[in-house]
Amino acid sequence: MRRPPMPKEDVMDRTRGFYKKNLETVSHKKRIEYLNQRLRGIIQYAYKNSTAVRNKLDSVGLKPKDIQTTKDLEKIPITKKGDLVELQKKNPPFGGFEGVPISEMRRIYVSPGPIFEPGEADYDELGWAQGMVAAGFRPGDMAINTFSYHMVPFALQMIDNSLYRIGCITIPAGIGNTEQQVNILKTLKANAYCGTASFLLNIAEKAEEMGLDLKKDINLKVGFVATEMLPESLRSKLEQKFEMIIRQGYGTADIGCLGYECLKKNGMHVPDDKIVEIVDPNTGKQVGPGKAGEIVAATFNKVYPLIRFGTGDLSILTETPCPCGRTSPRLIKILGRVDQATKVRGLFIHPGQADEVASKHPQISKVQVVITRKEHKDEMTFRIELKEEIPQPQKLKEEIEKSIRDVMKVRGDVQFVPKGTIPEGAKKIEDQRTWE
Ligand SMILES: [Zn+2]
Repeated sequence: MRRPPMPKEDVMDRTRGFYKKNLETVSHKKRIEYLNQRLRGIIQYAYKNSTAVRNKLDSVGLKPKDIQTTKDLEKIPITKKGDLVELQKKNPPFGGFEGVPISEMRRIYVSPGPIFEPGEADYDELGWAQGMVAAGFRPGDMAINTFSYHMVPFALQMIDNSLYRIGCITIPAGIGNTEQQVNILKTLKANAYCGTASFLLNIAEKAEEMGLDLKKDINLKVGFVATEMLPESLRSKLEQKFEMIIRQGYGTADIGCLGYECLKKNGMHVPDDKIVEIVDPNTGKQVGPGKAGEIVAATFNKVYPLIRFGTGDLSILTETPCPCGRTSPRLIKILGRVDQATKVRGLFIHPGQADEVASKHPQISKVQVVITRKEHKDEMTFRIELKEEIPQPQKLKEEIEKSIRDVMKVRGDVQFVPKGTIPEGAKKIEDQRTWE
């Protein structure tokens, strides 16, 4: 893969510039025509090459010719994350969603669920690269990528490739080893950061602990954060500490980038290679601009042509012009989860996982997961009622905490509570976080 050059005019200025200017500034009418044309193309292709997409259309009596415009998408059933897991169990490994033979894939990713994801040989997704350029990333920047490279597609396929395509140099650091990451930043003078905002806060705290001056000893100028909610208080704290610009992107491992902020911090622009609908979660019908609903998306990716993927996230779409010059619609903000599933430290967790943890320990009679946030870090507590008092609760506590790590891939604390503490009909996952 060759590194394509960025337009020269944009190179030095972080406050202006686009990744694909002609697409990003196209008129509303032209954009609709462009999206409809690409939609017809991918529907034809996927109907022919993906059994899951064909079955989905057949199940409601649709043929590709019935889908001419983005409005016609309403006729197609929504596929949720849970559906993906079930379909993949029935028809492993991809549930028939793959659009090419397995021999043509470059990598296969595994996301929690487990969900298997076909990885492209020639990755050409636009969204993350558009987002990083909008955040001020420029060719020649050196970026430390602290998203996890293991199993999941985000760090390697999506962010790493996008940095390369912009023309940035990448340090594939992955998550963890905070002290080592501080030393790398100091020695290499990396000026760009990709990762979660809370991990950047860890880095800041560690560097200060090591006696470093964040503005002089660390050279960070731009940051692209994702996979967890970004409170404005945390953003401004980090921007001031490092004297850097921080912008966020939004998407899922399955379908890629669905939104990114520009310098105007005006919501998240929908990338030009996705169709994003906001729908009534009960009816699946589009609610129109300005109204809240579930984010449902379609991609033009032939390797993994997800059509009408229901993210389970709630948002509002706006089409009012953005002063940055981009004409794409924007997701105003992520309002929360449609169901009880949620994200903790960037990882998806759902009630089924809480039950799985409980099933490993016969002493447990009832469990409730409480998510809180302390000093900009997510905390997960398993409140557990036991069937009867036991002599060595500390040992059981540690065993359950290990099961939590194994099942959910995030750390959680166990708190034993007296019988009757967790009310009947209580939510399995109680999200108590606030985002001021
Ligand atoms: Zn904008």
